[in-house]
Amino acid sequence: MSYQPGSKMKRRSAIVVFILLVMPIFIVMAMFGTSVTESARYQSMANDSQFGSTIVNARRGTIYDSSGKILAQSATVFNVTIDPKLLYDIIEDEDNGQAEFERQLDVISTVLSEELPNINYEDIPPIFEKYSAGHWANIAKQVEKPVIDVIMSRLEEAEVHTNIVYTEIDTKRYYPQNELAAAVIGFTNYEGDGAYGIEKYYNDYLKGVNGKIISAEDGLGNKMSYKNDKIYEAKDGNDIYLTIDMNLQYYAEKYLEEQVLTNKAQNRGCVIMMNCNTGEVLAMASTPGFDLNDRGSIYNPVDKAALDAITDPEEYSEQYAILREKQWKNKAITEIYYPGSVFKVVTGSAALEERVIDLHSTFNCTGSITVVAGVPPMHCWSSRVHGTQDFTTAMTNSCNPVFIQIGLRMGAEKFNEYFTAYGFTEKTGIDLPGEVQGLTLNTTNYGPVELASSAFGQTNKITPLQMITAYAAVVNGGYLVTPHVASKIIDSSGNIVKTFDTRIKRQVISEETSATMRQVLEDVVNAKNGSNAYIKGYAIGGKSGTSEKIDENRAQGREDLYVSSYCGFAPADDPEIICLVMVDEPMATDVNGGQIYYGSLIAAPAVASIFKDALPYLGYYPEYTAEELETMDITVPSVEGQIAATASETIKELGLKTEILGEGSTVITQVPPAGSMVPRGGKVIIYTEENIKEQFTTVPDIIGKTPSQANEILTNADLNLKLGDGASANNGSTAFRQNYSPGDIVPAGTIIEVYFIVKDEG
Ligand SMILES: [Zn+2]
Repeated sequence: MSYQPGSKMKRRSAIVVFILLVMPIFIVMAMFGTSVTESARYQSMANDSQFGSTIVNARRGTIYDSSGKILAQSATVFNVTIDPKLLYDIIEDEDNGQAEFERQLDVISTVLSEELPNINYEDIPPIFEKYSAGHWANIAKQVEKPVIDVIMSRLEEAEVHTNIVYTEIDTKRYYPQNELAAAVIGFTNYEGDGAYGIEKYYNDYLKGVNGKIISAEDGLGNKMSYKNDKIYEAKDGNDIYLTIDMNLQYYAEKYLEEQVLTNKAQNRGCVIMMNCNTGEVLAMASTPGFDLNDRGSIYNPVDKAALDAITDPEEYSEQYAILREKQWKNKAITEIYYPGSVFKVVTGSAALEERVIDLHSTFNCTGSITVVAGVPPMHCWSSRVHGTQDFTTAMTNSCNPVFIQIGLRMGAEKFNEYFTAYGFTEKTGIDLPGEVQGLTLNTTNYGPVELASSAFGQTNKITPLQMITAYAAVVNGGYLVTPHVASKIIDSSGNIVKTFDTRIKRQVISEETSATMRQVLEDVVNAKNGSNAYIKGYAIGGKSGTSEKIDENRAQGREDLYVSSYCGFAPADDPEIICLVMVDEPMATDVNGGQIYYGSLIAAPAVASIFKDALPYLGYYPEYTAEELETMDITVPSVEGQIAATASETIKELGLKTEILGEGSTVITQVPPAGSMVPRGGKVIIYTEENIKEQFTTVPDIIGKTPSQANEILTNADLNLKLGDGASANNGSTAFRQNYSPGDIVPAGTIIEVYFIVKDEG
């Protein structure tokens, strides 16, 4: 049978073209436009709930990173809708109407149930029946275009009348980077409004203004002609460019996650990387995070296990809601902690600025200090007595009694003046929702004991963002800047709506004091045998912190809850980037069963690893000292195919050892392979025969050994040493982890990756 569309059908055809191809505003214009001719039809539309006042959705703006990578985007999807009346009209309008009605209903039910998830064949006929007098009923929401195309072509092929099944444009929010920067980007709620992160903070810019068509009514409330309709066009949302750089964000998350997982952090970790001069946030993450496209799952293994252990359904859903909320929160701005020794940069810089101390002042540590007679003495973190120290040495030792003395010398009034000036009594004002206020003591409540413990960071609770912002001021010339995440807002035509420039709140210390602090903190990284934030070829400044979670420990009757943190900056003499890593409640133990919780052991290596990737990316290349060059690893050359004797010479000339196995004349294979990095004096095994039995060796235990000891032991076992990422190359460091277990049997020449760490605590 050939189907001749009536005038109604032709008109609806026109509409479907508009719906699929043209802007939403035009869809509605078409619906109300000149094609509406029949008054009966008009009446039925006017009575329908979708008419009267019609919303035309605006497109939500896109969120980009600083280099233009898409972080959040609204894609066009389609709602599948049916016009039941159109199907029922067939029964009366056509010859053989009943049979044709049934045929088309069968096709529609088949196609929709086969192409759409969660829809069964038998669901469809009752919907048609229920709405048989009406012109629309929704079948599915937010269907992707390829699926729609299949549905439409199948219906067309089966000669189902046009527009019994039709589609309406809708939008869906996608996050192409999934979990990257999730807590910063945030997401929208069911209504399409921002619920978290940038999506929430800049919702008014992103969402745009929906259009509207208001139908005119006469004095009796009856609808007047469409010609009296008022049309307000939709205005699409603005696009936002962030200061976040996806590459830096990736480095930051990767190394933070490594430490959070290795050290079994119970309460997540966070990282902030900022341009210390402008306050632009380059990276910010909370780990474990979540996937923005699947944010309902619980990702923290600790939380997941606790949740799965709950059997009571009510308790489960209650706890699930709490944990989900927790994982969505941006730890860097919504949680407060004792900053511990990282805070010593604040106390130290204030004392230098006030000339209460200078670089030549000396202090004494006897292991503890009595602040007020009758009050128990306050102890240094170290069991060994630090003795006499100047300011730089005290900073390097992170000596508590010295900083207590410095705090007391300054006095409560001065201390508070700087505490306030550095921004600890106010929010930083970052452009993200949910920033909390620190929990700080009031000036009037400060006695000598509070002042003493405040001086080394164990009295006032602040956010990680407050800490890094104050620290940035210490090293950037003294300027407290407002951190920000947005860099510019652009409208849908590409015009700049708003730009975000550097906002300096105030100068806290002089350029001169700031320069002194940079030198002191660079010395801290390089001092003695170096620290775990030391990177060959770069000048890094930094300070570690380890704080006791006094309140949580007391509440839970335990003593093992700590926060490990580190804040470093580079290049040390003229810093551009500053990075704070914080790991909350690390619970891992070392080979002897002792808990590992010092910031210098957990957070410092993460900062070093991040800088090692971030600095070359930002255009800073390593400049090695003669001493560093001496200890540089050597790249193993390719000698395969060479005459064995020549190959052996080539390897020896590079400062490596070699051993030839087999009676052949040319090199068949080599271990380690070409391109591997091994320390000077490492060994390359050359095989000259195809079927020679590979030589094996046993991996020795090198935990606790210095790099040179480890190198010697491994070389003697015909193995090669590789320094693990973020490891300190200095002889003050000792092996902490190795990638092959002692006793493992491996081919001679194998590279054993060893992670070294300086046992500098604090
Ligand atoms: Zn001490």
